[in-house]
Amino acid sequence: MKKNIYYSSPPVIKNIIASCYGRKLYKRRYLNKYFIEELPEIIKRQSWATVTYEKYQDQCIRDLIHIAANHVPYYRELFQSLKLKPEDVRSRKDLSALPILDKSEIKSNPERFVDERCNLRTLNKVYTSGTTGSPLCVYRDKKTDGLAYAYTEARWRLPYGVSKDSSWAMIGGKLVVAQEQSRPPFWVWNSGLNQLYMSSYHLSHDYAEFYLDELRKRRLDYIFGYASSLYSLALFAENLGVNDLKFSVAISNAEPLMTYQHELVSKMFNCRVVDTYGCTEWCIQAGECSERKLHISPDVGYIELTDSNGKPVPEGEIGEIICTGFINLAQPLIRYKIGDSAKISDKHCKCGSEFLILESVEGRNDDLIILKDGRRIGRLDPVFKGEFSISEAQIIQDNLDNFTIKVVPGKKWNNDIEYLLIKSFCNYIGKVNVKIDIVKSIQRTKAGKFKAVINNM
Ligand SMILES: [Zn+2]
Repeated sequence: MKKNIYYSSPPVIKNIIASCYGRKLYKRRYLNKYFIEELPEIIKRQSWATVTYEKYQDQCIRDLIHIAANHVPYYRELFQSLKLKPEDVRSRKDLSALPILDKSEIKSNPERFVDERCNLRTLNKVYTSGTTGSPLCVYRDKKTDGLAYAYTEARWRLPYGVSKDSSWAMIGGKLVVAQEQSRPPFWVWNSGLNQLYMSSYHLSHDYAEFYLDELRKRRLDYIFGYASSLYSLALFAENLGVNDLKFSVAISNAEPLMTYQHELVSKMFNCRVVDTYGCTEWCIQAGECSERKLHISPDVGYIELTDSNGKPVPEGEIGEIICTGFINLAQPLIRYKIGDSAKISDKHCKCGSEFLILESVEGRNDDLIILKDGRRIGRLDPVFKGEFSISEAQIIQDNLDNFTIKVVPGKKWNNDIEYLLIKSFCNYIGKVNVKIDIVKSIQRTKAGKFKAVINNM
């Protein structure tokens, strides 16, 4: 069906179309034999000790290298040019014989990364959300899809008391109703996935009440969305005095979840709030435990942290995340630079898991502030701590000395707060020029994501 016909259809027809599509997705994801077979295995691996999963990782690397070097054109040529044989890369420590793979290399010819035994036309072609620049094309086969959803179920739903069959609200970037629509519903009901899909584009002052009413009426099991969307909704609920919403859990995805967002979402939705970290390429997955730590799934990929020269960073320091993925063997990615930076900790976690902990995930380079001393700062939520009465804020860096902070003011905002905010910002990053720009709303990216920092340097 043509898009414009869909948009002009009455809500009931939209729901039918969404539900038919949902049933197809359900079949591909959950009636997939790999999903069914692997789910119990993934659950079992959850309690593995470090020595056990490290052995497993080495085996996955051998399998991956065998496929890549023999059947994937890009890697076959790479091994030839480096005069390497597949047997030369047998474990985690051997991986450094291979170069770090940049996104631009894949973008220029994604098909060269596909196992030549796969039929391109039967593969599922998905795109990364690409907050900046053009998105990356990822090819996945039926096995990858089955495994990806089995990991989603095992590590991002079951531990939080919900499952693939629970009812849920998704606040997402898909335009499920026309952009110019000014009357509810701003959502569709997808019975195939038991999902209420709510447009994040229409979530504004004017329409928030409709969203909250619908959620109250539906009594869904859980809610899923970008950290900023969950937070916006919670903030509207607070401002409108709606405090009877209740979910089993709110699952935050695709953006770092700030402490102030976590607190308000938990309070207004009367539930636990958990953070997750993953990517469309399926080479890294992390999920929050009962101690609010993000544990990395060691059976999804092997993770290294490097500096800008590709050298491993000392323990406890921030580095660029480099992934070797075990899930997508149709388009293997080895030592792939995903574009985010983080710290990794092997500290003992009270929850009992021996999986490594992903700490302070920072955004892509254009989501970071760069200071004169070379420091790169991503998470700036400490700046906004205190009684600032801010609904949303975005920091824009034009050069080393000049910053603008866009502020959507809260109810108690005044000129004194403006002064305190500038002071707090300079306390945190040093003496710079700061201009405060009061705005009604902050624009999202094309994918509907909120960016806390924009670097124009
Ligand atoms: Zn833990």
